[in-house]
Amino acid sequence: MIINAPILLGENFELLEEGHIVIEEGIIRDVKDGFIPGGIDARNYLIMPSLINAHTHLGDSFAKEAVLGLSVKNATGRKGLKWRLYEETENGEIVRCMHETLRYMLNSGTAAFADFREFGVKGIEQLKNAINGIPIKAIILSRDTDMEGCDGLGLNTYQLDQIPGDRQGKLIAIHAGECKREIENALRYKPDILIHLTLATPEEMKVVAKRKISVVICPRSNAVLGVGILNVMEMLNSGINISLGTDNVMINSPNLFREMEFVSKLSYLHDGIPPTEILKMATVNASKAFHLNSGSVDKGRHADLLFIDKNAPNIRDNKDLIPTIIHRCEPENVRKIMVNGRFVVDKD
Ligand SMILES: [Zn+2]
Repeated sequence: MIINAPILLGENFELLEEGHIVIEEGIIRDVKDGFIPGGIDARNYLIMPSLINAHTHLGDSFAKEAVLGLSVKNATGRKGLKWRLYEETENGEIVRCMHETLRYMLNSGTAAFADFREFGVKGIEQLKNAINGIPIKAIILSRDTDMEGCDGLGLNTYQLDQIPGDRQGKLIAIHAGECKREIENALRYKPDILIHLTLATPEEMKVVAKRKISVVICPRSNAVLGVGILNVMEMLNSGINISLGTDNVMINSPNLFREMEFVSKLSYLHDGIPPTEILKMATVNASKAFHLNSGSVDKGRHADLLFIDKNAPNIRDNKDLIPTIIHRCEPENVRKIMVNGRFVVDKD
């Protein structure tokens, strides 16, 4: 049990000033305001759901900034520089760099992620080897495989013929909307999840919302690859379930606090997005998209929690807690991380 804690409760992050959380067998059994005796005293922390990175390419960890200044086509397209860099790099080096990225992600508050894993069965094995010993939840979306040993497929629009007739209840995710006509093409294949949708028209957004296809946006990736700046509020208003991804590690740090800040600040070029909506994208919305049963501090959910140092100089003395967290929280402010009710990181 956790006691005396400020807690961001539920899917709308209502602040309990002095709450307690009862956890049994990794599941949150109860969350309430008010003092009760006995348990872990968490008065110095803010307790919030751990983050979910809904789109990564962890394999790229060995080549940070290698494609800076290139277009999406020349960086990661069919004949992009990315593939030549892989050819020149040894298996052990790729796995070591993925392992280090996974440690960084967990230490900075991400307890689950969905990765587009390239290179078929070998790629799945590389990621599983890299995860070994790191208590982080992985959703592996492979390609060039029969979906054995993974959670589904993560494809480009030139690979849609890989989608089998029998999906075995697994996920189909497709990159679409970094280039023209990709969305129209992807929609024909009934995906569960679309990545990007940066160039989506209002009509396409309506179709995606109506079909209840979840969308993962990656705004920092879109900016650095020169794809464009998505009007995220317009997408939210269309009713789409939006999650956040940091995309290729080559291009971006897999740090969701940075992604949330970017989305938030850019949104003021239009009308601004309520900070709670942005926090949902990195937590509860992603949980829904990938069926994780986490992403909020609620009865019945997995106890996947962050303990944030609320008295850190970059966080205390704020007048509005949630925007402070999404704009200012640093990996070092995430002091403890609980996954399935067990502390897996403790920096104090
Ligand atoms: Zn991607």
